[in-house]
Amino acid sequence: MRAAVLDEDHTFDVADVADPTPAPDELVLQVRACGICGSDLKSHTMMPPGSVLGHEFCGDVVAVGTDARDRWREGQLVAALPIVACGRCRWCLADEPLHCERVDLLGVGGSAGAFAEYVRVGADQSVLLDESVGDHGAIVEPLAVGLHTVEAAQIRTGDRVLVIGGGNVGAAVTFWCRRLGAAEVVVSDPVASRREAAGLWGATDAHDPAEGRPHPGFDVVIECVGAPGLIQAAIDATAVHGRVVVAGVCTAPDAVVPLTAIMKEVDVRFAVYYRGREFAAAASVLNGGAFDADAFVTGAVGLGGVSGAFARLLAGSDERKVLVRPGLG
Ligand SMILES: [Zn+2]
Ligand SMILES: [Zn+2]
Repeated sequence: MRAAVLDEDHTFDVADVADPTPAPDELVLQVRACGICGSDLKSHTMMPPGSVLGHEFCGDVVAVGTDARDRWREGQLVAALPIVACGRCRWCLADEPLHCERVDLLGVGGSAGAFAEYVRVGADQSVLLDESVGDHGAIVEPLAVGLHTVEAAQIRTGDRVLVIGGGNVGAAVTFWCRRLGAAEVVVSDPVASRREAAGLWGATDAHDPAEGRPHPGFDVVIECVGAPGLIQAAIDATAVHGRVVVAGVCTAPDAVVPLTAIMKEVDVRFAVYYRGREFAAAASVLNGGAFDADAFVTGAVGLGGVSGAFARLLAGSDERKVLVRPGLG
């Protein structure tokens, strides 16, 4: 099959690689679309050459492992967690496949992801999509990230929420905060186009950090950027007994002044990926047409366009979610 393969220069070459075959409890999908994620942009220079990235995808079932034939058949449109897990360890039994003792994370430098014509996935990690969802099935994954983050925040009806970062994670977080009952969601982002788009996902207001810090007193602050200083900014913006959830992936040391959190008894949590049931809930929101996928997805490229799309997004293009569609060539 053809895939966009990472090379030594941290760009992608379209190359022929081996076709995947399903283990007994796996499926192979013909990829319809795979989103380019902020984490791909951040991490691809650290991945080994030869990697096939892409972890936000949907596709049509083209091969079904022997143990999955009672549940799946060829031609079904599915999205799948980019996590192949054992299904038997304590974390799998707790619906936390990310923490599986034998976890295989697809598209982040280990097993091949979905910037490719085909991808191999776990049958138990797959969810059925309505045909009407089409390529937009690729955004089940970022929507599931948003739901998991918001569940960690334990949103209550009427909460006032500050979302730091209006990129794709911030957009999904904003959507779920409103859906789960937040009365007010303020999105803070230095980029004007992101502040302007925040209302599409349900934000009630936007804040430009260049104009100083937002007024404190938020019940919940969700950090969706991952840069030093923002955990402290989140703590500073909370009310007494506020909750901070950190979803932004920061790889640098990040100092906080614990006193500022202690005096308000702030609850600080970290969140990454999702549970299986959250992924399924994200799929049902898309199946039901409750999320404006047309506004979220702003472009598509073929496998040969991956390098160019990475370059544009890294240069600060105001595109939102760009999909890789192997069918475009
Ligand atoms: Zn992602
Ligand atoms: Zn397991």
